[in-house]
Amino acid sequence: MEQNSSVFFDKKLGTSRIVVLLTLLLFSNILQGQVSTDSIKVKKYQAKAAKTQPFGQEAFSKTNKTVIRWTGNAGFLINSRGTTLMVDPLLKDFDMPVMIDYPIAPKDVPHLDAVLVSHSDNDHFSVPTIKDLAPHTTAFHSTVYVDSLMKNLGLNSFGHKIGETFEVKNVKIKSSPADHQWQNAYKGAANRFFKKEDCTGFLIATPDGTIWAQGDSKLMPEHLTMTPPDAILFDFSDSEWHFTLAGAVEIANAYPNTPLLLSHWGTVDAPDFAPFNGDPEKLKKLINNPNRIVVLAPGQPYLLKRLLKTTKKSY
Ligand SMILES: [Zn+2]
Repeated sequence: MEQNSSVFFDKKLGTSRIVVLLTLLLFSNILQGQVSTDSIKVKKYQAKAAKTQPFGQEAFSKTNKTVIRWTGNAGFLINSRGTTLMVDPLLKDFDMPVMIDYPIAPKDVPHLDAVLVSHSDNDHFSVPTIKDLAPHTTAFHSTVYVDSLMKNLGLNSFGHKIGETFEVKNVKIKSSPADHQWQNAYKGAANRFFKKEDCTGFLIATPDGTIWAQGDSKLMPEHLTMTPPDAILFDFSDSEWHFTLAGAVEIANAYPNTPLLLSHWGTVDAPDFAPFNGDPEKLKKLINNPNRIVVLAPGQPYLLKRLLKTTKKSY
C-alpha cells in the first residue's frame, strides 16, 4: 500500500482529485477489511480429482500387461498379468468428508492376491475397507506393527521388516524405508511410541517394470539414490510429515524420466489441511520433464511401461 500511495502526491494531480483518491483508498481499505473478515467463511481453493471412472470385474481379469489404477487418496489397484494387488485401499467410510466417488465398492472386488498397507493411519489402513476385502483377499502385507493390528482383526497377514522381500505370484515386493512418525510429536495422538519402521513403502517388481509405492514419508536420503523405478505412486502434498513440495521436487528430479502417479491429493475435503490438499498444477511448474506427471481420475487405467535404458534391477 505504501508504494501505491506515492502516486497520489504526483504534482499533476489537483487537490480535489487527491481528496477523491484518498477517499477511494480509505474505502478500498474498508472493503478489504470486510473481505478478509468474510474470507473466514469462504472456503479455500482445493484441487480436486477428475470425475471417477468406475470399474468392475474386468479390471481384475488376466491380461498380458500391468495396469495401475488410482482408487483415490493413497490407494491403488495393480493388475500385473492377472496378479491383483491393492495398495492402501480406502474405499468406504472415511472419518472426514471425501470429494470423490469411490471407483469400486470393496464388497464388489472379486479377488485380490494381496493387499499392501504402508502404515496404520486410517487413510491407508482403512478397517471398514479391509473388512469388506478380507473374504476375497489371499494375504495382507504390512509392517510388523500393522501386522499385529491385522492379526487382531483375524486377517491372514504378514509383517515385514524394512528391506525384507516377499513374493505374490509373479510379483516380487520389497519393503522400502519411510519416515512418518507424526504421532510422537502430538501429545495424546497415540498411546504408544511410533518407530520409523512402523511405516513402509513398497518396491513392487512386476514383469513389466518396477513400481515404487512410497507410503507416507518425509524425505530420506535413501529415496534419492534408488535405481530409477518405472513408475512412482507419488505421495504428493506440502505437509511437513510428508515430502513437502520442495522434497517432492527433489525426488521427482532424482528420477527425471519416471512417470509420477500422484496420490494423497484431490480426495479428502480438507482445504486447510496440507496432507490432503496438494495441487498437481504447482508441481508441474517446478519439476524437470513435467509431462511425466500422471494425474489420473479415480479408476482410470494406466499402463505400466519399462523405462528405456533401465538395465539394473531395482533391488
Ligand atoms: Zn496418509
